[in-house]
Amino acid sequence: MTNKNKGLVVLVGAGPGDMGLLTLSGKQWLQKADVVLYDHLVNPDMIRFTQKSAEMIYVGKKEGVASMEQEQINNLLINKAREEKIVVRLKGGDPFIFGRGGEEIQAIQAVGIPFIIVPGVTSVTGVAAYAGIPLTHRHLSSTLSIITGSNEKNQGDIHIDWEKIASRSGTLVFLMGARKLPLIVEKLIKFGKSPDTPIAVVQWGTTARQKTWTGTLGTIVEISAEDKILPPALTIIGEVVNLKSKIEWYEHLPLFGKTVVVTRKGDQADSMIDRLRELGAEPFFFPVIETIAPDDWSPLDNALNNLSQYDGLIFTSVNGVRFFAERLKTIEQDIRELKGARVYTIGPKTAEAVRDLGIRVDVVPENFIAESLIESIGNAEGKRFLIPRATVARETLPEQLRKMGALVDVAPAYKTVLPSQSVDALEKRLKEGSVDVITFTSSSTVTNFLTLTGEQLLPAIKNTKIACIGPITAKTARDAGLNVEIMPEQYTVSSLMDAIEIFYQ
Ligand code: SAH
Repeated sequence: MTNKNKGLVVLVGAGPGDMGLLTLSGKQWLQKADVVLYDHLVNPDMIRFTQKSAEMIYVGKKEGVASMEQEQINNLLINKAREEKIVVRLKGGDPFIFGRGGEEIQAIQAVGIPFIIVPGVTSVTGVAAYAGIPLTHRHLSSTLSIITGSNEKNQGDIHIDWEKIASRSGTLVFLMGARKLPLIVEKLIKFGKSPDTPIAVVQWGTTARQKTWTGTLGTIVEISAEDKILPPALTIIGEVVNLKSKIEWYEHLPLFGKTVVVTRKGDQADSMIDRLRELGAEPFFFPVIETIAPDDWSPLDNALNNLSQYDGLIFTSVNGVRFFAERLKTIEQDIRELKGARVYTIGPKTAEAVRDLGIRVDVVPENFIAESLIESIGNAEGKRFLIPRATVARETLPEQLRKMGALVDVAPAYKTVLPSQSVDALEKRLKEGSVDVITFTSSSTVTNFLTLTGEQLLPAIKNTKIACIGPITAKTARDAGLNVEIMPEQYTVSSLMDAIEIFYQ
């Protein structure tokens, strides 16, 4: 079934918005995809699961902009699959609930291309859960109807049997009904539903922009009149809506409603994203640093070939440890050559990475900056140190050590570069003022971020809260004119997350 040579279309439901609601299978297919066709309602952060080489094609509708025709999408799916590619068709919610998934699969099936269907968490259940509304409940509701609030032309009547729908006793859920709320309410009352029936409208459910209006069929139009309800919004009607006040939870999380930009990649980003989601924030993934091999391996190779000459080995970053270990393996050198050398690290994550290699860390200074490490080294006179690190980095550490009479070999183990990525989604959010915090975990994240976003977005960035991991990073940010309001006492990612939580308490 997964015969790559034949091409394959995988229809994947992305869930209603929160990244965590993508299924494991959906994630696995994104990791394998050669091409991804995605919609407007798909969380754009999901691209971080794809391979670098994957082709990303946006086929969604935008407000006021003509969408790609369904037939065009079908053809694109077919053509890409015929190029013997794994084509993932990523759709919001579940593809078989008002997602035209059936139509696309019919087109694929008709030309004999193999396909797989990965269901998603539909907004019907996902958004209801995040709003704290059980869709069925003993004694309150024993049926659930999922109804379209749209019609072909998106104006005028909705072509459904209002009489039958109004006479149902259980829960009614309308999708695509944001603009049709007055019509839906009017029809239901006209065909016999009590004006006292509870109703909730949930906009952008499961995301930082989740907003809920509650009332009754008789009051909801007036209640929501001041705010313009825009898609995507889910309308839930029935007695179960009354349970919300007791069950709602998402809106009470400490960082609910906050969008926090994560500028790092890799493990650091993963732990930040997980923690932010736990706190109820919406992480916005915008990596600004890519790490690649240095231009020249020879300084590091020289050092690795002569490890026994060192008294101390200093790691200043997790990447330094990773690339050091990789290179050691590549040139078939042996860590045992280190013999009695002491191993120093800046920061607990770096220490953890060293320990993962089975190497004991002798010193992790109290403060996670170079100055603090120098203090803990003590007498350096005549000793030889190796620092495998980024091609460009702060010179404080080697300079200070040399002043203290030490011999220091700085060996580039990796290079950081600007990733090539689109700024569009971030630009949109910054301009509409819906980004709350931008996090920086090193000076280079600050400079790269500003390079990628450019002059034009600087005013919007200056209006956003900035959270920096430590004083060096904060200085770089302040020097660039940014407003650093959040900085933890301990310079770690987890303390940074705590600091954001405390800031908003
Ligand atoms: N296949 C999707 C539905 C696509 S139709 C699913 O299973 O969820 C688009 C409609 O879904 C929107 O108009 C809205 O009614 C609903 N919807 C999708 N995501 C939503 C969200 N995050 N919050 C509220 N409603 C959402």
